[in-house]
Amino acid sequence: MNDSIESAVAGVHRDAHVRSQLERYVRLLLEHNARINLTGARDAAAVAEHLRDSLALAPYVRDPLVDVGSGGGFPGIPLAIATGIAVTLIEATLKKARFLEIVADELGLRVTVLAARAETVAQEPGFRERFASVTARAVASAPAVMELTLPFLEIGGLAVLQRGELDYTELIAAADAALILGGGLLEEVALERGRRIVLVGKRAATPGRFPRRPGIPEKRPLARDRRDVNGVVQLVSEPADLGAGARG
Ligand code: SAM
Repeated sequence: MNDSIESAVAGVHRDAHVRSQLERYVRLLLEHNARINLTGARDAAAVAEHLRDSLALAPYVRDPLVDVGSGGGFPGIPLAIATGIAVTLIEATLKKARFLEIVADELGLRVTVLAARAETVAQEPGFRERFASVTARAVASAPAVMELTLPFLEIGGLAVLQRGELDYTELIAAADAALILGGGLLEEVALERGRRIVLVGKRAATPGRFPRRPGIPEKRPLARDRRDVNGVVQLVSEPADLGAGARG
């Protein structure tokens, strides 16, 4: 396994120390993945693709960073290894969070792991509007991701969100949700192999009622498109979610 890990990681980063730390992470991930479901990637070559994806965010993230829905550690762990910045990982599934703690300890990273839902953590004063950047990869729909990430950012902070291609209505729904939460869509950056990063700036404080209760951001997104019987798209923001008496 060691040879295949070394060759898979070889082209991923220029720095030898970073590569050796990434190799240790991949080894732990593949070992633990045999027992608990941490990632769909089953071999070193597949994991290296996730490393590349994660490291593509390095030029955009700032210290301190919070990664929401880290799963087996993407993109938070590779970013902690490659940039040395302080990273908080929020992961709702306890066994995944335990694995992330093992990685942080064994590799000596500046990483804090919270086994919790982002909706709960973002309402705690010690974590709300305390981060210069936030990442989330493959966690929820675009408007829900806005609600799960923007409350963590200080004003002036940057959300660096990894997505497949967003269609026009998804992008508008995400932009609408961002506005409600004090953010503004800045840029969509095209990466290699059809991957994209959506950058969202934090312009104003997030209203205290967001994020809503666990599960609500995904179940009742702040903005979404609805297609009528003729297939015509209508963008809708929930009036109840905008007013003071918001449910959730
Ligand atoms: N970001 C990782 C990646 O790209 O490989 C994991 C993606 S996985 C599909 C989504 C992860 O987000 C799961 O591990 C899930 O437990 C976590 N998650 C989903 N919603 C969450 C929430 N509201 N708070 C914290 N974690 C959440």
